[in-house]
Amino acid sequence: MSVHEIYLNPDEAYAPHSLGYPDLQALMEDRYAHKVSGGLTILRRSLDARGSGVRAVIRFASSSSLEAKNVQGLPFRSQILGPNAPELHIVGAGPAGIFAALRCLEYGWRPIILERGQAVRERRRDVALLSREGHLNPDSNYCFGEGGAGTFSDGKLYTRSTKRGDIDTVLRLLIELGAPNEIAFEAHPHIGTNKLPGLIQKARQWIEAAGGYFHFGSRVEDLDLDKSCIKALLMHDGTRIPLNYMMLCTGHSSRDVYEMLDRCGLSLEPKALAMGVRVEHPQELVNRWRYRLRGETPQHWPVASYSVVEQVAGKGVYSFCMCPGGVIAPCSTHSSEVVTNGWSPSRRNNVTANSGWVTEICLADVPLDKARPAFSLLNFQQNIERRAAEMGGGQQWAPAQNLQHFVYPYDSKVKAMDSQSLGICSYRPGITPTLLNSLYPVEIQGRLSTGLHQWAKRWPGLLSPEAVVTGPESRTSSPIRIPRLDDSLHHPQCVNLFPVGEGAGYAGGIMSAILDARRSVDALIQQATQGGSSSL
Ligand SMILES: Cc1cc2nc3c(=O)[nH]c(=O)nc-3n(C[C@H](O)[C@H](O)[C@H](O)COP(=O)(O)OP(=O)(O)OC[C@H]3O[C@@H](n4cnc5c(N)ncnc54)[C@H](O)[C@@H]3O)c2cc1C
Repeated sequence: MSVHEIYLNPDEAYAPHSLGYPDLQALMEDRYAHKVSGGLTILRRSLDARGSGVRAVIRFASSSSLEAKNVQGLPFRSQILGPNAPELHIVGAGPAGIFAALRCLEYGWRPIILERGQAVRERRRDVALLSREGHLNPDSNYCFGEGGAGTFSDGKLYTRSTKRGDIDTVLRLLIELGAPNEIAFEAHPHIGTNKLPGLIQKARQWIEAAGGYFHFGSRVEDLDLDKSCIKALLMHDGTRIPLNYMMLCTGHSSRDVYEMLDRCGLSLEPKALAMGVRVEHPQELVNRWRYRLRGETPQHWPVASYSVVEQVAGKGVYSFCMCPGGVIAPCSTHSSEVVTNGWSPSRRNNVTANSGWVTEICLADVPLDKARPAFSLLNFQQNIERRAAEMGGGQQWAPAQNLQHFVYPYDSKVKAMDSQSLGICSYRPGITPTLLNSLYPVEIQGRLSTGLHQWAKRWPGLLSPEAVVTGPESRTSSPIRIPRLDDSLHHPQCVNLFPVGEGAGYAGGIMSAILDARRSVDALIQQATQGGSSSL
């Protein structure tokens, strides 16, 4: 296999005519087809901003040698399910739940999805009302509803997993569902908030057409357990749903699910997570820093992003879920709590860039819940979110502060900023200027601000008067792990309960939640068909 790498001017590699996969493909074939035999496949497009100039790097090979990267791929194959198809009850229609359902279809199993929130169309209205008026529907919001927390996200598809084959399979599925072809070769693929809902609706069409079921507005509230086996789900309206196998894909925001499992006597474990704040800058400032520009960003260059890690007192402090050209969103699930996160549309064309700035919080950082140690980190997280809501003043308003003042509160030259002098902040419903640097305990705040101080040595513009910090960024992953056995992947005390995805503590992000779901379905069906837990 021969792989080639060439450098292009970013203008050329990202200009509107080559934003679409076919155009870039045509340009590459025109110039480089003579270098390969059997056609040309683009493997990767990235930007290299190191060294003296910014350049686009395109890696390509002969298509015949690289079947796996072929964006046409194999079409998704499922069968129309017969009346006796075995059933899997999936709780939660986030990325994990939806892709678990698609995987079931490939095996001829019938997925039955129970989702507390609403379908995308209704959910969109709830989210708009939340942003406009601060009215939060506890079952239909940025975290809950069809597509889960992934629906109105940035749709970044990065993962630390190195299982390239599995990742490529998921990328191909996403392309079939309507994601742009470029995700197959971008170094940092993303889909965008405007496109994700369409993909999710199409996945539902596939699942329903094959004979699977979706039930929206269906909150699971209790389990009917018999020894080491779940017999039925008890729903919010009193309905009882008998089942054989259950996959719990409820995400990291469903605190009532952890309470339910604890009530049922099923073990849980505390899990470290990262928490902090969200910083926001004019996008143009970020472009200037990353591309070392003096003037404006050339028209066709992609908006710049960053990924920063600092070490403070032996702990990592780092940027998280950076959204170039994006917006900060209200991502709480309770009216007395405030949570921030970010998204951006596919073109990333908003004027601001935001990112979480977080540090790892482990058991030693928080008060221990002696009665229920597994809930210690969750309690801490919840208290921070409640305090933030009080500081914000209600109706989902978030506390905010000038970033300089957040880092150097005692510097007499840095004055506390009032609402008039805060830079642009994209967070709706609104922000309340306040001392956000008093939200976290001193030790954690110290890490956050020292990390920013260190970062500012490399990027002085970080602490520009236009930079705003808001928060908290408190739901980066789950504060609890639902244990499962290594091979069988079911809960150690319950043979037909499979905890999956981010809420169970086995994923952090869309791609890893999907990969975990597919792996879990494989394990479940293998056991069921080989008689492992088929005695149910
Ligand atoms: C604004 C925002 C931006 C993000 N951006 C990115 C990004 O760019 N890239 C990335 O990789 N990740 C991003 N994330 C994180 C990503 O969305 C999650 O990692 C991912 O959605 C986790 O998938 P999941 O299926 O495990 O859980 P979730 O997506 O949280 O889905 C869980 C589902 O379960 C349902 N549920 C919960 N409890 C019950 C119950 N009792 N009964 C029935 N249903 C229930 C919920 O309503 C929800 O739909 C973002 C998140 C947010 C909020």
